[in-house]
Amino acid sequence: MSDSSGNPQNDKNRNKGSGPRFPFGGPKLPDLKPFGGWKFSLIYLAILIIGMSLFNFVFLGRVNPPIDFSEFKTRISSGEIKRVELTDSYFTGYTTLYPQRTRNRSVLSNQPFEPQGPVYRTVPINDPEIIKLMDEMGVAYYAVSREGSVILNIIFSWVLPIAFFLFIWRFVMKRMGAMGGSVLSVGQNRAVIVAEGDITTRFNDVAGVDEAKEELVEVVDFLKNPRKYTDIGGKIPKGVLLIGPPGTGKTLLARAVAGEARVSFFRMSGADFVEMFVGVGAARVRDLFKQARDKAPCIIFIDELDAIGKSRINNIGGGNDEREQTLNQLLVEMDGFDAAKGLIILAATNRPDVLDPALLRPGRFDRQVLVDRPDLKGREAILNIHAKPVKLDSMVDLSSVARSTSGFSGADLANIVNEAALLAVRAGRMLVSQKDFSEAIEKTVAGLQKKTRVLKPEERRLTAYHETGHAMIAAFTPNADPVQKISIIPRGFALGYTLQLPLEDRYTITQSDLLGKIDILLGGRIAEEMISGEFSTGAANDLTKATDIARKMIVDYGMSDRFRHVALTSRGTGMMGTAQTHEPVLHREYSEATQQYIDEEIARVVEQRYALTKEKLEQNRALLDKIAAVLLEKETLDEKEFKTLLGGL
Ligand code: ADP
Ligand code: MG
Ligand code: ZN
Repeated sequence: MSDSSGNPQNDKNRNKGSGPRFPFGGPKLPDLKPFGGWKFSLIYLAILIIGMSLFNFVFLGRVNPPIDFSEFKTRISSGEIKRVELTDSYFTGYTTLYPQRTRNRSVLSNQPFEPQGPVYRTVPINDPEIIKLMDEMGVAYYAVSREGSVILNIIFSWVLPIAFFLFIWRFVMKRMGAMGGSVLSVGQNRAVIVAEGDITTRFNDVAGVDEAKEELVEVVDFLKNPRKYTDIGGKIPKGVLLIGPPGTGKTLLARAVAGEARVSFFRMSGADFVEMFVGVGAARVRDLFKQARDKAPCIIFIDELDAIGKSRINNIGGGNDEREQTLNQLLVEMDGFDAAKGLIILAATNRPDVLDPALLRPGRFDRQVLVDRPDLKGREAILNIHAKPVKLDSMVDLSSVARSTSGFSGADLANIVNEAALLAVRAGRMLVSQKDFSEAIEKTVAGLQKKTRVLKPEERRLTAYHETGHAMIAAFTPNADPVQKISIIPRGFALGYTLQLPLEDRYTITQSDLLGKIDILLGGRIAEEMISGEFSTGAANDLTKATDIARKMIVDYGMSDRFRHVALTSRGTGMMGTAQTHEPVLHREYSEATQQYIDEEIARVVEQRYALTKEKLEQNRALLDKIAAVLLEKETLDEKEFKTLLGGL
């Protein structure tokens, strides 16, 4: 009965508001606020009391306060009272004679008779004298049938008290529900799971994430024509994991998939599963899949998957039982359904690194789609989508807005358009001007700088050179992994990145490959130095990695002049090493003198590679400038664009 046990009425109301509907999310705490509840029932109580008094007043007579019995008698003997009505509770004396009422007159009749003159009332005393007195004085007296008052009696002595206690009980239950997290409803789904039908979001509403869209178009096709794939013997993927920073449109994409495929959409956030009571989350997962199976074809969307999908490996001793059970249930459910029925699970996370490997194995979330921050073109497209319903000044240039919002996510851009519109309204203008946009950007940048990195123009230029340096050296180095993507869109703590993907798996690496890796890592800092004549902190991570490789070459791989073919560490048994790398723990097996040699040798190798690489880059200074300029303009370069710029090298 408590609010939190899923009173459907309540949930309906909760979902009625505008804005996004959360079919089974809802706030974690029940809506009942401690004082809201009190206030509500106090009003209820007041109404009840007023109602009861009114009832009393209307039906039990509007008579003066009772007078003394003796006075009543005096007024009879003085002849003032001419007629007396006798009931159990009152003797009522009227000063006018009046036709006696019929016995059948209902007490509840709404034709009260209007006595003229004063009416006296007294509480009866068992006094036989009074009848005699009335006989003597010729007073008309009569008793009123108790028929009517029996009903009243029942109402007052039974119905109302019971109603009152029911009311109190309900109220107490409500309070208990609010405090105990609905002790009585453990295991039930607190919020009713409702699928959203008629999703109006389409792929057209999402921009700037073309690669992700391409992948998801296929998912839509799976949902629409599962036969096409199963007839050939193919297996439809069960789970697709959307990975990307917050606000880049993961939720939007999931909705668009449901909208395009015209299927129902079950949305639940990872946090909804994790409750105070162990077992609730697992029960919820079971419920969710049961409902979804009944509704197939449909999409289950689990937002913030990391809330339940955290790796179990890292919490040795004292894990979170509830989360683990929920996760296990999810794994079981994902194994247990047949994707051919048209049920696909989408999930979103911005922390793929913490996810349990079991979630990512084939048959579960085996497809991973990267939803990254948009580049220049993408940002312009997103701005166009969100500016469509906004009245813009003809001078507004959205591409220039896009240019000055490097690193912004889709949600940030949507926010900027809205801010600009608000600013225009505040200034009393009918159209949004370019100035509103610049002001909106400034406002947002200030807020963003706390969360992510927004680069200043000079930083962006340095970053462009830095990444171009990496990429060019990678292109010059024989046998190096090809450059897939260069970007100066900040990602996490990195200001930009150069993505190299290996053509094939490699298990052994040659000495020249290792040196090549060092070169590529140093390339960033060299390019920076070439244009600014200075070193910056931007290359710290590269230097760590380069140094690490150099050290390993000397210590582990026996690639130094003095310790050729000698490993200076021994592989420990015991602990398996960290979960991520599965590398054995290495024990150092060398003297202080050797340590000194290693340090010097690392410095020498790195220095030597630095000089060599710098020479290479300096010979190609023009190319470096050219590519960096294009990168600065476009923010991302893919493999093809980069190769074209290199000129078929
Ligand atoms: P996420 O789930 O990745 O954190 P959302 O999908 O909730 O982000 O995005 C929030 C809002 O930002 C969306 O409702 C939409 O208005 C806007 N938005 C984000 N990314 C895009 C995009 N790529 N294209 C259009 N609008 C976007
Ligand atoms: Mg989201
Ligand atoms: Zn770098």
